Amino acid sequence: MSLPLADQALADGVRRSERRALAKAITLLESTRADHRARADALLDALLPATGGAVRIGLSGVPGVGKSTFIEALGLHLIGQGRRVAVLAVDPSSSVSGGSILGDKTRMEQLSVRDEAFIRPSPAAGTLGGVAEKTREVLLLCEAAGYDVVIVETVGVGQSETAVAGMTDLFVLLQLPNAGDDLQAIKKGVMELADLVVINKADLDPAAATRAQAQITSALRVFGQQGNPAHGAPAPVMQASGLKGEGVAMFWALVMQHVEARRASGALAQRRQRQAQDWLWDLVRHRLLSDFRAHPAVQRVLPATLAEVSAARTAPSVAARRLLQLFESNNS
Ligand code: GDP
Repeated sequence: MSLPLADQALADGVRRSERRALAKAITLLESTRADHRARADALLDALLPATGGAVRIGLSGVPGVGKSTFIEALGLHLIGQGRRVAVLAVDPSSSVSGGSILGDKTRMEQLSVRDEAFIRPSPAAGTLGGVAEKTREVLLLCEAAGYDVVIVETVGVGQSETAVAGMTDLFVLLQLPNAGDDLQAIKKGVMELADLVVINKADLDPAAATRAQAQITSALRVFGQQGNPAHGAPAPVMQASGLKGEGVAMFWALVMQHVEARRASGALAQRRQRQAQDWLWDLVRHRLLSDFRAHPAVQRVLPATLAEVSAARTAPSVAARRLLQLFESNNS
């Protein structure tokens, strides 16, 4: 399909890595207007062959663990090696509270002024699903614009780690040196998503960092023995100091080791294929559910039906079938 002339110029600009074109394309796909959405879809179609070339890294950790400091150190390190780096954020809190945990402008001051870096705060609109959806599309645009490494950052808010792990090649968890003292506080589910764990701020208390490294390593081994199908071997655990730039080179070496091994075995391609299919089904599921909830015939009987089910006067399966019948018979 060919694009209108203005959008063709936009696509060319993105491919040439022009920052203004990239920003404009992102604005287009973040727009809620239907005509903008149609243009953004055509743009994505046109750019898709140019995507897929980046190493996609997901990175999470509680506020204050040092994410932005670490990403800045890593970004500058990679730029020093001739790479170009994009940093995106998934922060569902920004749409709930109106304020973003990740979004303030003073973060990554040195990185943000570099031509080789592109930093985009979290899209503000909507639910986690909506925020993640936009971020996935922005990730593709960044790849089309030739960024070699895309880092998607998130805080542990409302399943955002799962969403970010679901759009990246490897998922990194940053922990504080005292994390090992309170393993209960580490969410097992999040730990199981991790492909790499970094004990950050190791400069503050090297002994505590070493202890945390040992404790988390053995905790991951136990999770592994409980049969996590996602991991062959337990995720490596390393120490770093984003502030001092220590451990950044080793971090990158571990990332590349992980990516290269999975590229060679085909696991990386499989992961991306699975993510692409999950993305499609997510959208279909959300759209169908919102159509269902918005359907007038369904809306009319829904409160009474829910009350019936709560009071155990109608079986949930029977109620669901009746609602679906109403939806389908009024929908064709
Ligand atoms: P984020 O909320 O996870 O993005 O954390 P920030 O990167 O904003 O860091 C929070 C605070 O911790 C800031 O005051 C940083 O200067 C400090 N910090 C970040 N990394 C380190 C580190 O490796 N060592 C030490 N000592 N302080 C750090």
